[in-house]
Amino acid sequence: MRAVLSIGSNMDDKWALLRSVSEEFAGQIVAESPVYATPPWGVEDQDDFLNAVLIVDVDESPLELLRRGQRLEQQAHRVRVRHWGPRTLDVDVVALFDDAGNPIDCDTEELTVPHPHAHARAFVLVPWLAADPGATLAGESVEGIVDKLPPAEVAAVRVVEP
Ligand code: AMP
Repeated sequence: MRAVLSIGSNMDDKWALLRSVSEEFAGQIVAESPVYATPPWGVEDQDDFLNAVLIVDVDESPLELLRRGQRLEQQAHRVRVRHWGPRTLDVDVVALFDDAGNPIDCDTEELTVPHPHAHARAFVLVPWLAADPGATLAGESVEGIVDKLPPAEVAAVRVVEP
């Protein structure tokens, strides 16, 4: 199964937290986007986010993959200082594909795939497109979806170096 993972962090050692996900999936990574800085939305008195997309080939079930991401989030949360504050690490399952490249949908209490907000989030779609220029989400090209997003939101997602 191929999985598209969106990863984000906006506090502590953001680069190290993103790296912890790449290290977890070492040997299973098919493509990795650059790292992007994105302005926080909602609560604005917090640091910019770093976001990236990892495309991985894994053997486990969708739910086991979700739990693998949640373990990384929990490890990161040990250093969380403020309960409702910024996120140390977020790992979302954006999309899943079987070995023939057909999308796998999940609709359970714990896991909804494709991720219900993915189609509206420039910080997910822009990195995904960079990692896979031919990407599709629910049968539509990610490039086409990005083209329909507000240009200012797309422009706000910019590549950064460590
Ligand atoms: P959040 O921390 O806001 O990303 O939300 C995490 C919660 O969303 C967890 O309880 C998950 O079970 C649930 N969830 C549902 N679908 C997904 C998905 N595609 N990726 C990650 N979490 C998901």
